[in-house]
Amino acid sequence: LASRDFHPDDTVIEIKGVKIGGEHLAIMGGPCAVESPEQIDEIARLVKAAGGQVLRGGAFKPRTGPYSFQGIGVEGLKMMAEAGRKHGLLTITEVMTPEYVDICAEYADILQVGTRNMQNFDLLRKLGSVQTPVLLKRGFSATYDEFLNAAEYILAGGNPNVMLCERGIRTFETYTRNTLDLAAIPVLQSLSHLPVISDPSHGTGRRELVEPMAKASVAAGANGLIIEMHTDPDNSMTGDGVQSLFPDQFANLLKELEQLGKLV
Ligand code: PEP
Ligand code: MN
Repeated sequence: LASRDFHPDDTVIEIKGVKIGGEHLAIMGGPCAVESPEQIDEIARLVKAAGGQVLRGGAFKPRTGPYSFQGIGVEGLKMMAEAGRKHGLLTITEVMTPEYVDICAEYADILQVGTRNMQNFDLLRKLGSVQTPVLLKRGFSATYDEFLNAAEYILAGGNPNVMLCERGIRTFETYTRNTLDLAAIPVLQSLSHLPVISDPSHGTGRRELVEPMAKASVAAGANGLIIEMHTDPDNSMTGDGVQSLFPDQFANLLKELEQLGKLV
């Protein structure tokens, strides 16, 4: 079902009038984690003002260590839904377990599957049983074939609304947090009709690399970008402040993409 062979046309997912896929370039921006109503409201305002369409923010965070901040949970979902509604943005948030799919879908427009859960098959099956669009992140050690098979679980369950997200893979390089696999964008688009979104934030782990890799992703044909942006990155509650853009950098990036004729 994910294969281009049996579905030659690009899949375009339409959510409340926003189209993701095909010729459209979707811009998703926001903090790694929802921290407070004020924080998410202000960032939503900035994402909207810059020309983004989707507000990102984690309420449930898949942290490497059990003692790290784990997200604020359902309260965070509510705060983000309110900020999205107020500023006219769609919302995307990560869901980690099958039991939380329904509640996350109640508050968010798009459900994100994190890199660590790409092969959480119970979660994928559950996501196949709903119609909420899913952004599936590539496992950091997953081949294209494994990635597309993970998408296939969701599609096979009856949910056709799947986007693929390249967010960097693990290589021998340690300067960057991950190695953003730019070739994944055209490869996945040739193998599959599903929209391909690039995440240059997790893909590099370094703020100064987000802009060039965002532009490179668009040049490679990405259907969208998901970018971390924070009003006070140095004090963000996850470690991802170092890769989060300041609001003016986010706005400048979108302006430049617009000048390139990439924003519609
Ligand atoms: C995130 O988007 O904040 C996140 C945890 O992403 P990933 O699953 O790609 O690490
Ligand atoms: Mn993050």
